[in-house]
Amino acid sequence: SSQQADSTLAQRRSTALGGRKLSPLFYREPLQVVRGSGAWVHTADGRQYLDAYNNVPVVGHAHPAVVQAISRQAALLNINSRYLHPHAVELAERLTASMPAGLDTCILVNSGSEANDLAWRMAKLVTGRTGAVVADLAYHGVSEATAAWSTNTYPASDRPEHIATFEAPRTGPNGQQPDALAAAERVRLARLELRASEHDLALLAVDSVFSSAGILTPVDGFMQGLQDEARAVGGLFLADEVQAGFGRGGRNLWRFSDFGLTPDFVTLGKPMGNGHPIAALITRREIAEQFAAVDEFFSTFAGNPVSCVAALTVLDVIEQTGLVENSGRIGASLAAGLAPLAADLHPAAEVRGQGLMAGVALPPDAPLTAAELAERLRDQGVLVGTTGPGGSVLKIRPPLIWQQEHVNHFLDAFAALA
Ligand code: PMP
Repeated sequence: SSQQADSTLAQRRSTALGGRKLSPLFYREPLQVVRGSGAWVHTADGRQYLDAYNNVPVVGHAHPAVVQAISRQAALLNINSRYLHPHAVELAERLTASMPAGLDTCILVNSGSEANDLAWRMAKLVTGRTGAVVADLAYHGVSEATAAWSTNTYPASDRPEHIATFEAPRTGPNGQQPDALAAAERVRLARLELRASEHDLALLAVDSVFSSAGILTPVDGFMQGLQDEARAVGGLFLADEVQAGFGRGGRNLWRFSDFGLTPDFVTLGKPMGNGHPIAALITRREIAEQFAAVDEFFSTFAGNPVSCVAALTVLDVIEQTGLVENSGRIGASLAAGLAPLAADLHPAAEVRGQGLMAGVALPPDAPLTAAELAERLRDQGVLVGTTGPGGSVLKIRPPLIWQQEHVNHFLDAFAALA
């Protein structure tokens, strides 16, 4: 049977790829996927699932324009980026043009981790300092430096001395929303902690949607408070747009723009190539030049023509089909439909998010955990995830091409759970 075939493949995977800690899988019984199309994923057993989780296929699974662009380029040439080729240039120009003035230099890389890691090297060099401030329950990557920023992946007692945290702006059952002034106070406290161990604030990095902390929307002025205080004490500010970017928030292409921020560094990744691995660090010329005066950077695959044409096509599709606006409109409809269903689950359940990044935060005494809800939604033919403290938040983060029919399908499946 197909279930037996799945479990044989899962066993081989675990043997060859090192088990769930080294190569994690969703679900108690993993899903064997074979094909994607738009908002849908098809599995080996012939079922189809509405994708309410995957942000990487931002313009939809197997988008024809992306598939055609990368196929054509792969058939023509793919090569190391130490040769002159227009795709990388055009991509860097378009990304920097989409940023606030002054964010004029783009370094193409292969993953969000790599983008954050390079920003860290630059920040340390430019400030002459060695400390980073990040949110509690943050996630920023897998390299040694960015794993240290990823405070949701290890206990606070293991936190290295060069890392200090500020409390993310929680609401509802998990805490109270701080005011804007509290942001500066939180940065000051974190900085004191760094200075107690002979470090000081080189960089404050923040995921603009606080995804791993549970999908949090701060009060007006909170993000600005983080940025301004980091700068006021001589540090640099990084907006990690790896999850938040490319229109997910439904207002601007970049979520930090919603808060009026002007970061020193912006990092992009995940959806950038609709599944093709490509990421970027955008920074100011003088920061890049100070780094280049004493160090250098080259990464073999970064900026190759196939990855770049994937990213250029993603930008085209987002612009030409109005996906930022769509994310705002469809996301608002999703949130409105979710509110009564979440309240049915538990009176204190909280619908969070902005645009097509939504969360349902469940209090500890909810009858079903978020993980159990995700399993049951899978049985209903819908893919979601979990995030936040102890995985207590159901995470809904679909491709931005969702239409009202997808929202309706999702809400029907959710309503059938209670
Ligand atoms: N920053 C954020 C906010 C992320 O969500 C992730 C990936 N989950 C990363 C950085 C790291 O990106 P990558 O997995 O491409 O290295």
